[in-house]
Amino acid sequence: MGADCVFCRIVAGEIPSKIVHQDDEVTAFHDINPQAPVHILIVPNEHIADITRVTAEKEPLVGHMLHTAARIGAEQGLNTMKRGYRLVINYGANAGMQVPHLHLHLIGGRTMRWPPG
Ligand code: 5GP
Ligand code: ZN
Repeated sequence: MGADCVFCRIVAGEIPSKIVHQDDEVTAFHDINPQAPVHILIVPNEHIADITRVTAEKEPLVGHMLHTAARIGAEQGLNTMKRGYRLVINYGANAGMQVPHLHLHLIGGRTMRWPPG
């Protein structure tokens, strides 16, 4: 994967994005169509198509995605119980998954309903 995958291309810097964090394992950038005042995507740098493709050896990588999200939530000033944020991974058509490269949504800065629509 790479040339055909929009998030692989963002990781590689071939498609511009507003990157907020990048390290050897993950890249985080602002969603192009934000659904809230804060809407950031955290993706593995390597191409993993979706959550069902995560193997046991990738568990540390997924943990790093979550830890990175929490750190970005703090940087965005959302890490209080009064503010808070939501972390979402969509899979499949019913969940509205659009991009087949694993990504974690960090959404916050407004009140959100539960359950989601
Ligand atoms: P999904 O519905 O697959 O969980 O979420 C895909 C997300 O990727 C959507 O929120 C969409 O706005 C975002 N997205 C799609 N293409 C691009 C892009 O080229 N750049 C950025 N920054 N976000 C994108
Ligand atoms: Zn990819």
